[in-house]
Amino acid sequence: MNDLPRPQPGIMGIDLYEGGASQIAGVANPVKLSSNENPFGPSDAAKEAYLRAVHDLHRYPSTDHASLRAAIAEVHGLDPDRIVCGTGSDEILLLLAQAYAGPGGEVIHTEHGFLMYPIAARAVGATPVKVPDRDRRVDVDAILSAVTERTQIVFIANPNNPTGTMLDESEVERLARALPTHVMLVLDGAYAEYVEGFDGGARLATEYPNVFMTRTFSKIYGLGGLRIGWGYGPRAIVDVLNRIRNPFNLSHGQIAAAEAAMRDQAHIARCRAENARLRAWLAAALADLGVHSDPSHGNFILARFADAAEAGQCDDYLKTQGLIVRRVGSYGLPHCLRITIGDESACRRVAAAIAAFKGKA
Ligand code: PMP
Repeated sequence: MNDLPRPQPGIMGIDLYEGGASQIAGVANPVKLSSNENPFGPSDAAKEAYLRAVHDLHRYPSTDHASLRAAIAEVHGLDPDRIVCGTGSDEILLLLAQAYAGPGGEVIHTEHGFLMYPIAARAVGATPVKVPDRDRRVDVDAILSAVTERTQIVFIANPNNPTGTMLDESEVERLARALPTHVMLVLDGAYAEYVEGFDGGARLATEYPNVFMTRTFSKIYGLGGLRIGWGYGPRAIVDVLNRIRNPFNLSHGQIAAAEAAMRDQAHIARCRAENARLRAWLAAALADLGVHSDPSHGNFILARFADAAEAGQCDDYLKTQGLIVRRVGSYGLPHCLRITIGDESACRRVAAAIAAFKGKA
């Protein structure tokens, strides 16, 4: 037995990532509100660009994603040389861990933070260190007191998934300033576009040599199925990531669709406004039923129930109504359900179903 191939230590400690379900046995066409997808889909321009890319399938794609980086840089007012693109922001998170964390090191993530952070840490042999939140909010002081000389990376998402809560820029900057410079602070802005006027941490990633921002086309850009993300930060870090990433990590279709999607900011503004309107409506409708949530800054709300049993019963009932939401026990929130903001009809259906579950229909 001893001579069989053995995975690196730490890998078998990884809990498999549970993606949002998309099917319910026996239910045709369920409404999927479990993966924070944009119910309005991508810009038409992105779909058209994707289809046009079929003409180049015999050619290798660009290795440097110059056209996509140029579009991102123009829209965000950033330096294209400080941008790196990947297959979803998941790839960027993993590249950061591969390059900057490893055996003997620690990677800090927050109590109710995104599950990819401990997965990435263990995948590279580092030790994930979970820091408690305060009332479902990232706690800067708790993070700072968990930092040791072994700390290599601190991951925070802002807004945070699955809580929907957000740290003020001043709090994030306090963290950036207080961290020892050998520690990288990764600001995951997967939901940043849902916050009007928020730069996702771009200024901090411009000014601090140890701050890096990640972003995605999977959420407001409606391209989760295509797998495109990007990162922005100090040139030295971008240079390191470019050395280890797969040179052809994005296909023609991914590059073309993402570039067109980035250039259609009118679509993004419409999606942001519609999400804000429906999120406010759904949060108020559920609060009227006694199901409360923290003010959310993302495209989902975290609905709190009396306990895990009630959340589970509600989830089961919603399934019978053809509605798929997300149980978040693996995020340390077994008494909650995360509900993605769908289109108007989906929001009305989920509110009506929860009212029926509560006996208040
Ligand atoms: N960060 C956060 C906070 C997320 O919620 C997600 C998606 N669930 C991601 C990163 C990864 O997104 P993607 O790999 O699709 O870009």
